[in-house]
Amino acid sequence: MVCEGDAGAMSLFDGADLIVVGAGFFGATVAEHAAREGFRVAVIDRRKHVGGNAFTYVDAHTGIEIHKYGPHIFHTNSGEVVDYLSRFTGWVPYEHRVWTTAGGRVFPMPINLATISLFTGRLMSPREARAWVAEHAGGFPAPGNLEEKAISLIGRPLYEAFIRGYTQKQWQTDPSLLPAEVITRLPVRYSFDNRYFSDTFQMMPEHGYTAIFERMLASPNIAVHLGVDWFSARGGAPDVPVVYTGPIDRYFGERLGRLGWRTVDFAHEVHEGDFQGCAVMNYADADVAWTRIAEFKHFAPWRGEFEKTVIAREYSRFAGARDEPYYPINLAEDRARYDGYRALAAEEKRVVFGGRLGTYRYLDMHQAIGAALRAWDREVRPLLTR
Ligand SMILES: Cc1cc2nc3c(=O)[nH]c(=O)nc-3n(C[C@H](O)[C@H](O)[C@H](O)COP(=O)(O)OP(=O)(O)OC[C@H]3O[C@@H](n4cnc5c(N)ncnc54)[C@H](O)[C@@H]3O)c2cc1C
Repeated sequence: MVCEGDAGAMSLFDGADLIVVGAGFFGATVAEHAAREGFRVAVIDRRKHVGGNAFTYVDAHTGIEIHKYGPHIFHTNSGEVVDYLSRFTGWVPYEHRVWTTAGGRVFPMPINLATISLFTGRLMSPREARAWVAEHAGGFPAPGNLEEKAISLIGRPLYEAFIRGYTQKQWQTDPSLLPAEVITRLPVRYSFDNRYFSDTFQMMPEHGYTAIFERMLASPNIAVHLGVDWFSARGGAPDVPVVYTGPIDRYFGERLGRLGWRTVDFAHEVHEGDFQGCAVMNYADADVAWTRIAEFKHFAPWRGEFEKTVIAREYSRFAGARDEPYYPINLAEDRARYDGYRALAAEEKRVVFGGRLGTYRYLDMHQAIGAALRAWDREVRPLLTR
């Protein structure tokens, strides 16, 4: 059952054995498990839809499926997660490929032998390419900033062409002023494999992501209330276990300070025909304001031809208090602050903190689902059966 709006805190939670805050993959996975075992679950989300950041909808004007919070591609090595999710969806094979425009030329991403060969203008074997990167990567045995770290990982030429401008746009800061810890690795593939992901399973849900959530939450044991914020509703909540997938700092009134996030602004445009001929084009140059353009119909080629096309230009920036938090910044000060919040969370014996916001971690969808499967077994179920 799905309801919209705050009908009064008491009726929201009437008869619930478990409250789940957040109808994204973490919350929906836990709710589905609890309902299947006969527990009554109240799921609330402050947004007016289920699905969290994986929410998709069909644009009424063009008929194209839009990923509202940025393109989502399902990829994993976990057979367990695939088996679980396959209860709620069929799949269509989809191997994601990304291109980048740099200096007026186009290259495949992540950096691979084709990128290096196109960039240098000569065909290189894996051994030659490794030697070429190593030759340009010296000089920074103890990198003092992101720029030096990146150069030590992939050499100056590739850094200058593909990383410098893109990173500057992502962080609104020159990479030489960013701490080295922001990156741990920069992938370079010494093969011509230009798939964006190398996981065993790479596919898209046949009917979009939202259809998965509708099936996961369809049990008569689950009541979904949309447009309801936990912090307005919790006063009337009964004393039952809570799974909280919102921001952990907000749960504690930001009493240790705010955790840092980057957000993304999406500018949607409708065009005739095919805009860019691929699903994602990155823009590596600093003088192009957007970081990438996603063209949604290319994420579902099996749906056939559309007359029009919908694209989203993405602009990255630091998240303010009212912005959607997307990528944890995770500097040393954030990690220390998060450790403090984790210690506070450990004192909340009937609340399980989960998902990307509740644990201040970037999680892919399969990781959020995997974490929820573990949390159900180890934390939530024991609370309900105690
Ligand atoms: C731009 C972008 C692109 C991505 N692309 C991919 C991809 O290609 N492949 C992939 O596997 N993953 C991708 N991800 C990651 C994916 O979005 C996450 O794995 C997934 O959203 C995690 O699910 P979750 O349940 O932890 O969080 P969410 O999906 O964020 O769900 C949390 C929910 O809690 C709700 N909530 C928060 N606070 C409250 C409150 N106070 N009261 C009520 N409700 C509240 C929110 O409204 C939200 O709906 C991408 C993420 C971003 C940002």
